[in-house]
Amino acid sequence: MLQFASYDIVFQEIPNEITLAINLTGCPNSCKGCHSPHLMENAGTVLDRDSLDVLLDTYGGAVTCVCFMGGDASPKEVEALAGYVRNKTGGRMKTGWYSGKPALPKDCLLEHFDYIKLGPYIEHLGGLDSAATNQRLYRIDNGTMIDETSRFRKVYVY
Ligand code: SF4
Repeated sequence: MLQFASYDIVFQEIPNEITLAINLTGCPNSCKGCHSPHLMENAGTVLDRDSLDVLLDTYGGAVTCVCFMGGDASPKEVEALAGYVRNKTGGRMKTGWYSGKPALPKDCLLEHFDYIKLGPYIEHLGGLDSAATNQRLYRIDNGTMIDETSRFRKVYVY
């Protein structure tokens, strides 16, 4: 069962999209230096089709993407809800998944997603905007994973 602690409308997590980011709890990854330790607890509001409908009805007109942040304990449920968002919106709404796993489950249906982030958080390597990061953000195009991590790098103009 998926549960979420909170949600936010964010602008940087998925390139060029206004994203409803749903912060899922029950994270099994135990990254050292975890930036959101409360997401490791099994607590929060159940995320199912009904609660997702409420979020989509409330915020669907203001966002272009729904991103599931976490959910690694129940990847098939994340996949199913991503597929539900696609069907419900006729494909208008993009879907993303921020996983903390280094690789996808073997049977993951890529076609349910437009973007997938992979990789645990490793404090000294930093997040997606760090040149040293181990994490990767992929755009899914016809079943192919295209690495777009470089789009997160900060560009400094002197
Ligand atoms: S995946 Fe995220 S929430 Fe889970 S332990 Fe790692 S940093 Fe924390």
